[in-house]
Amino acid sequence: MSKPEAILNYQEVDLERQQVETSLRTTEARVRFNKLAKLLKSQQATIKKLSDDLETISAAENRVSSQYQTALKRLDLETSELDTLENDDETTSEEMTEFRHDIERLNREINSIEKELKNTLLTLERQIAEYQKTRQAAVKAKKEYDQVKEICLQERDNAQKELDQFDLKLVELEKKVDPRLMARYKRARQHYPMPVVPVKGGKCSGCNMGLPTLQLSKLSGSGAVAECENCGRMLYME
Ligand SMILES: [Zn+2]
Repeated sequence: MSKPEAILNYQEVDLERQQVETSLRTTEARVRFNKLAKLLKSQQATIKKLSDDLETISAAENRVSSQYQTALKRLDLETSELDTLENDDETTSEEMTEFRHDIERLNREINSIEKELKNTLLTLERQIAEYQKTRQAAVKAKKEYDQVKEICLQERDNAQKELDQFDLKLVELEKKVDPRLMARYKRARQHYPMPVVPVKGGKCSGCNMGLPTLQLSKLSGSGAVAECENCGRMLYME
């Protein structure tokens, strides 16, 4: 058997094996699995972001809430002080007016804090709802992900026997190939599913690069295999 025949026989079985691999990667379950994996990843990122946001809003809510409590206490104090001043004969009417203005100011401040607190609580509620919604969607997606993964594993299992048979055949076929040629094949195979291609019209049929006349003449009739200098594929004459 001349050199190209042995390596071509090997490649033929290798290509059949690749076809089984390819169809495994493109089953309905596998495509769905890949989609779900992507979805889960993005949901997890969203959950992380929402959780960080929640922490920030929750801290803001604590801060405004404690501002509100402090202002209410001050109002209590100032209101009781107003009572005392009102019953004190020495208090001038200017002092009373000023004090009443202070209390009015404080009331306005309290109103504004109250508004801020309400808004913060609303935001917090919305964020919690969004967080829970995303969590629920993620739980649902994870459940389907696990189910589809199971199907993919089953498909893989079913195909494994077939793949094992190809592997056995490949081991046998490899014995007939020159080890140096095999090494080149395996190197080129990392880049191309079909590493051995025929010369067509004086060109590498893999990359369409024209071959030097010297290389062409070496190839013709010798049954040898050359390497395309442009793409690294292995060349033979048909
Ligand atoms: Zn080429």
